[in-house]
Amino acid sequence: MTIPEHLQHLVRSDEPLAPLVWLGIGGPAHFFAEPVDPDQFAGVIKWAAENGLPTRVLGSGSNVLVRESGFDGLVVSLGAAATSVLSIDGERLTAGAGGKLSHAVVKAIGGSLGGLEHLVGIPGTIGAAVVGNVSSGGRDIGSVVERVRVMLPDGTIKQIEQDEVGFTHRKTSLDGMTIVEVDFKLEPGDPVALTKRLQKLWIARNSSRPTDFDRIAMPFIDPDSLSARELIQNVGLAGIREGAASLDSAQPHYLVAHEGATSDQCLKLIERVREQVLLQTGIDLQLNLQIW
Ligand SMILES: Cc1cc2nc3c(=O)[nH]c(=O)nc-3n(C[C@H](O)[C@H](O)[C@H](O)COP(=O)(O)OP(=O)(O)OC[C@H]3O[C@@H](n4cnc5c(N)ncnc54)[C@H](O)[C@@H]3O)c2cc1C
Repeated sequence: MTIPEHLQHLVRSDEPLAPLVWLGIGGPAHFFAEPVDPDQFAGVIKWAAENGLPTRVLGSGSNVLVRESGFDGLVVSLGAAATSVLSIDGERLTAGAGGKLSHAVVKAIGGSLGGLEHLVGIPGTIGAAVVGNVSSGGRDIGSVVERVRVMLPDGTIKQIEQDEVGFTHRKTSLDGMTIVEVDFKLEPGDPVALTKRLQKLWIARNSSRPTDFDRIAMPFIDPDSLSARELIQNVGLAGIREGAASLDSAQPHYLVAHEGATSDQCLKLIERVREQVLLQTGIDLQLNLQIW
């Protein structure tokens, strides 16, 4: 398929994805675009839909494992400033899907609003956080979402209210949709107290994350009221290796891609863990990591 003339400045072919994802591995995207305004965003989504091109939105790449063969479709990256705007109106924080979750937390506290600070330290963008209903300390992001705006395949915007989103444990019904903006309904709070809480949570999170490696991912969802970390530790899988991919030995719910690791090795390791955990505990660990 050729890129139409009016999109040639925006859409690139065979763009390597490895530098754009935390694990640093995997093949290229057949087509890749980084729209810098809503019109470009709509134009590229519409073109992909009209041509039956599978489309994926890329946030910060902290939760994606790209196969060696790459992604045979269009990847839309939301890194541009126009898709990352954060604004406050009363108790509402409106965030562009490409905005960093960490920036939204800081913006809210600066505006004397609480409700997001427990999510501090979760890497990634607002869009990915909402589509995956990220959670920390038993509270998910869905509890403070007021409404979500998604882009339909024809490039128009649809608004979905919180109760229609279907937020459940680490899931939503938004899977496969393109989130462009989110309204959060937050609560007024004292910025000094909120900052203290944020700092405490930040220290706790940093101490529960591998410090020696950058190329990491959190492959599994904590099963209801259980911890994937403990399950993996208890079945004796901490530190196991598959080629140059391993589970961290101290924090075994993290996958580490060492120098020379491949996507196939990561996938094999994930399968081994799922099989062993299922065999020894009867629990079928669900994947958090998105495989492209
Ligand atoms: C060190 C570390 C710690 C983590 N801690 C936690 C944690 O405590 N709790 C937790 O829940 N998760 C955690 N995660 C997982 C990860 O941070 C979250 O899943 C995060 O939301 C991913 O954001 P991202 O922007 O990097 O998404 P990406 O990796 O870029 O994308 C992830 C998925 O979201 C989709 N997506 C991205 N943007 C949009 C959009 N605008 N519209 C529709 N779909 C979109 C992508 O297509 C993809 O399927 C952790 C990961 C790491 C590496």
